[in-house]
Amino acid sequence: MPFSELITLEELNKSLKECDYRNPTPIQEKVIPLVLQKKDVMAKAQTGSGKTASFVLPILELFSKQNYEGKAKVKVLVLTPTRELALQISQTFSLFSKYLNKKPKIVSVIGGESISTQLLEIQKGCDIVVATTGRLVDILDKKQLDLSKLEFLVLDEADKMLDLGFEQELDTLLEMVPKTRQNLLFSATYPLKVKNIISKITKKAIEISI
Ligand code: AMP
Repeated sequence: MPFSELITLEELNKSLKECDYRNPTPIQEKVIPLVLQKKDVMAKAQTGSGKTASFVLPILELFSKQNYEGKAKVKVLVLTPTRELALQISQTFSLFSKYLNKKPKIVSVIGGESISTQLLEIQKGCDIVVATTGRLVDILDKKQLDLSKLEFLVLDEADKMLDLGFEQELDTLLEMVPKTRQNLLFSATYPLKVKNIISKITKKAIEISI
């Protein structure tokens, strides 16, 4: 199947060609249409499966179809267990935004870099935040992250995040985000603790396994 059957936006297809993404991977084939239909998804996916593009591409497609006015408030929050993964996801968002008329503002919220600079970037107006769970907790404590307009909550490598003890903070986070958001969750394994947090986040996720 060519990508153009899944992703209709010409600007995204142009980037896909440029990056030599010829055909979607199995996870992309399953997840992209569901995200575009605004469904909640929980996908069993390993690193290397193409899971990053499976949420980045449809989120950008939906984002570019909307008209927002005024200073941007965070619409997409992606949570990851590590800095490396957060940076890789931010880069993927930038890479595929290249030809979009309206480019989203993306901020990486990760440890080891100035928290005040990151907060300032968000406050200037930001559409997409990609955060490690550790640094997100510091920012939530400062009560300076307005998530009242959030549309997408993405948890990547959820099993690893829970190994780092994110369960308690998740409750705080869930109090700050609108109930109408779309939830996307990726995990290589599904132990009981991952299933427990899924049931906290969403009751209507479609399960994908490849
Ligand atoms: P991920 O599982 O998201 O970490 O992606 C693994 C690698 O596969 C990354 O280097 C991606 O750039 C690449 N990749 C993802 N999807 C495709 C695709 N459809 N065609 C070619 N390369 C891809």
